[in-house]
Amino acid sequence: MPSQGSDSRGLEAHQGETLELAAADVTALVAYARACLPEEACGLLAGIDGVVARTHLLTNVERSPSTYTIDPREHFEALRQAEREGIELLGCWHSHTHTEAYPSPTDVAQALYPEWVYVVVSLRDPEPAVRGYRIVAGKVCAVTLVIG
Ligand SMILES: [Zn+2]
Repeated sequence: MPSQGSDSRGLEAHQGETLELAAADVTALVAYARACLPEEACGLLAGIDGVVARTHLLTNVERSPSTYTIDPREHFEALRQAEREGIELLGCWHSHTHTEAYPSPTDVAQALYPEWVYVVVSLRDPEPAVRGYRIVAGKVCAVTLVIG
């Protein structure tokens, strides 16, 4: 079992778990998130064995600066594409326009997939922050993003 971390939030380290993303993909996420301002941007991450092979930049049907819902048709298409390519959906990502790269209470409440990594791209500061989390039964655990 993961042990309680010393972080003031009570973040638990998820036992060395990592998600690998290509630097070019992270750059694309940030660029898309900026292009979607003032609304939150969102999408999906597909790959295998903790390595993202394909990043999907999708539509936030809520058109909101503070919440997101991935277009269900695009979600379905991404899932079908992953199945065709023999990979799987490893997680999703979305942007925070004015808050830190940490899941909001709404994000936690709406996190339906315990097996997913939830990546948050924060545009709050001039230098964007990109962080990953696993959200299981309302508990948030950090996942180390390996960007290379
Ligand atoms: Zn959020």
